[in-house]
Amino acid sequence: MSSTSLHQSLQEEFGFDSFKGNQEAIIKSLLAGKDTFVIKPTGGGKSLCYQLPAIISDGVAIIISPLIALMKNQVDLVRSYSSKDDVAHFLNSTLTKKEIREVHDDLLSGRTKMLYVAPETLTKQENLEFFSDLKLSFFAVDEAHCISEWGHDFRPEYRRLREMMTQINPDIPVIALTATATPKVQSDIIKNLGLKEPEIFISSFNRPNLYYEIQPKIKKDQTIKNIVRFIVQMKGKSGIIYTLNRKTTEELADMLMANGIKAVAYHAGLDSKLRAERQDLFLNEDVQVIVATIAFGMGIDKPDIRFVIHFNIPKSIENYYQETGRAGRDGLEGKCVLYYSHKDVSKLEHLMRDKPLSEREVGAQLISETVAYAESGVCRRKILMSYFGEEYTEKNCGECDNCLHPKEQVEAKDNVVKALKVIKALDERFASDYVVNIIIGRLTPNIAMYRHEGIAEFGIGKDQPDHYWNSLIRQMLLEGLLSKDIEDYGVLKLTKAGDAFSKKPKSFKIVLNNLYEEANADDD
Ligand code: ADP
Ligand code: ZN
Repeated sequence: MSSTSLHQSLQEEFGFDSFKGNQEAIIKSLLAGKDTFVIKPTGGGKSLCYQLPAIISDGVAIIISPLIALMKNQVDLVRSYSSKDDVAHFLNSTLTKKEIREVHDDLLSGRTKMLYVAPETLTKQENLEFFSDLKLSFFAVDEAHCISEWGHDFRPEYRRLREMMTQINPDIPVIALTATATPKVQSDIIKNLGLKEPEIFISSFNRPNLYYEIQPKIKKDQTIKNIVRFIVQMKGKSGIIYTLNRKTTEELADMLMANGIKAVAYHAGLDSKLRAERQDLFLNEDVQVIVATIAFGMGIDKPDIRFVIHFNIPKSIENYYQETGRAGRDGLEGKCVLYYSHKDVSKLEHLMRDKPLSEREVGAQLISETVAYAESGVCRRKILMSYFGEEYTEKNCGECDNCLHPKEQVEAKDNVVKALKVIKALDERFASDYVVNIIIGRLTPNIAMYRHEGIAEFGIGKDQPDHYWNSLIRQMLLEGLLSKDIEDYGVLKLTKAGDAFSKKPKSFKIVLNNLYEEANADDD
């Protein structure tokens, strides 16, 4: 297909004048019958990369999408472009027998160009047989990161997609799309979907219009006051607040309402009708703020969200990137503020305690990267982009707290040596809390039981408060001087590098993080 006729279809079918970014190259790759892998940040225009080829190809494209709730929105959107209702359909467990029959009829007649399905739908034998007999154009796997445990939204059913696609039709191309692209996730997708010599299209993950900031979460009341003040400043502008648990969404929404800010809570515990209602209130700007757990937001197409506040630390950098990514999709202002405290980190870790070990290991690794991000003095954008395997070379991005207000760094060489000494003196058999209590010389019942108050190192660091030592140990973990045995209650051990450091200490600069210790014990 020539470029002219592609542009013509773009105009006629979608009303757009030009392709966005590399859409045209992606579409050409797919139309040439190649397996195609698209990595584009949210808002990059991924849907069009399969919708346009689907419309102009012979046969039906099967689009695999993880969320039943979003399928209807997507199909409605496609129909609104093309003004032909039967151009797109979805098949999932919400349809009645009669509706399914109608979809089947449209598919057999050749009128339908796109069929959205959930992975569960594909695994049903009757569907497999039905699809095998259809004339198909290609498979599109949307949100392809769901196939990887290293993605932010692992769905085991995605692991069976290759098998299903092979059964239905092994000869048509597959296009996989995602907004998540750490190198690990990328290779998981290619491997598990069995993409054959795929053409890979990676777009930059930089969102230059987003401003990133980390704020200490000191006391809950104070934090809420700060949030209220912030939202009042953003008058009339829509925003999302993400929290860790359902109760907090309700509490926060109430607090905002009490302060004259129109807000609703949104979480998976609400029935679907109420969720849909509240989502609409937000989309139609009848409320300014939606306070939500991560249940909210996937596939939400509201281009003018002006701020995303994290009331708790997200469980991975990818979650953070996805969630903040919902701000400023129109390319205009988007402010992203994360309220951070060490206690929220413990809370996240606590939530994982009943998970299987492998999941805990992955989870702990993801959390520690998020902590490093939050505590770092380096440009936020630089860290985010390097997480996605991209290099950001600007010295100052001008749109993050660390670039605008560089943090003071202090030398911690001697204290690193002290911490290493204590851990060794304890025979590398204790976790961080215990180690810190020894360092500052706090006699706990446990310490008394082990008679550790008698060791020479007891209290060698009492000139600094415990949060200093907690933070230092975290940074030592991040720099690889220590390792933490998750299987064994988080016992701290020296690594080779830690051993080398204690023999030959060198400069170790840290940002002071005394800001991030919450003073209040009843926070959420
Ligand atoms: P993604 O799935 O990558 O998050 P979408 O497919 O939802 O992105 O597209 C984001 C927005 O960009 C949508 O509002 C879509 O209509 C718009 N868009 C996509 N392609 C184009 C284009 N070529 N020209 C103008 N707008 C486009
Ligand atoms: Zn910066």
